[in-house]
Amino acid sequence: DILVECSQLVKEYKGTRNKPVRAVHDLSFSIRQGETFGLVGESGCGKSTLGQLMVRLLEPTSGTVRYTNFQDGRGNRKQEKAMRKENQIIFQDPYSSINPRKRIGWLVEEPLIIHGIGKDAQERKAMVCSILKEVGLDDSYLDRWPRELSGGQRQRVAIAIALILNPSFVVCDEVVSALDVSVQAQVLNLLQELQEKFGLTYLFISHNLQVVSYLSDRIGVMYLGGLVEMGDTEQIYHHCLHPYTKALFSASVDAFDSVKEDLLLSGDIPSPSRSPSGCPFHTRCISCMKRCIEENPSMVEVSPGHFCACHLIQGMNT
Ligand code: SF4
Ligand code: MG
Repeated sequence: DILVECSQLVKEYKGTRNKPVRAVHDLSFSIRQGETFGLVGESGCGKSTLGQLMVRLLEPTSGTVRYTNFQDGRGNRKQEKAMRKENQIIFQDPYSSINPRKRIGWLVEEPLIIHGIGKDAQERKAMVCSILKEVGLDDSYLDRWPRELSGGQRQRVAIAIALILNPSFVVCDEVVSALDVSVQAQVLNLLQELQEKFGLTYLFISHNLQVVSYLSDRIGVMYLGGLVEMGDTEQIYHHCLHPYTKALFSASVDAFDSVKEDLLLSGDIPSPSRSPSGCPFHTRCISCMKRCIEENPSMVEVSPGHFCACHLIQGMNT
């Protein structure tokens, strides 16, 4: 029942003086049909790059992204288009992802025109009204401008644009991060309703572990371009093992408790162009041992479905 599978995915950029910067580093995992896979980590850890690799907005430096519901479309224009239709992405700030000089009705209709869906303008308009209704906006929005809408309403429009092509896989990249807390819950609930109604599969990306836990079936914790822990939400929420996950949790639970946050997440994130030796987290880990500086821990299944890359945890198990 796997829908999308990443295998040994690597994405490198050319940094200053042509030094390669590894945004995503040897990453393998898969997402099941109909699930929400939450991806959490601090900004700059490569989550957005991974999200864009998974909908093929970016091509990997090496490794593969494979979909089980259609043929790989690379090189074939028709299949490439089908792949674009099946995989959608929604970004944090709809203001930068939608054209501010177009009315809402036009913005939502555009994907239909690009993909040649609907026999005429009238049929397309009916489809636009129907998807707007699904996201909680009525026909009065058709002639409105993006600037007239609140952040939450604009994000609803962005969701409508993503869903009008009836995709199977949707990447949600920090989709509620710019919204007020009260509006965040509304948008999260809407995403959940739409998932059930349309049988969607989500990759849900956020820096906030609380937000990710609210929606996700499984969670992957990302640090410096790689996964350090992965498991069911229950396992990550109640029994997280990796020192980085614990630090992230305390930072998101006690957002105002800066003392605790400082204690657990001290130091800056190392630059992706100068990855530390050994465990990538060792420069900030309160449990760092000598072994951690020399040897990079591999992902090990510590209990069924629960994976962790940490010498401390693996030492406890052996
Ligand atoms: Fe910390 Fe060592 Fe575990 Fe890395 S391997 S998270 S440095 S204890
Ligand atoms: Mg990002």
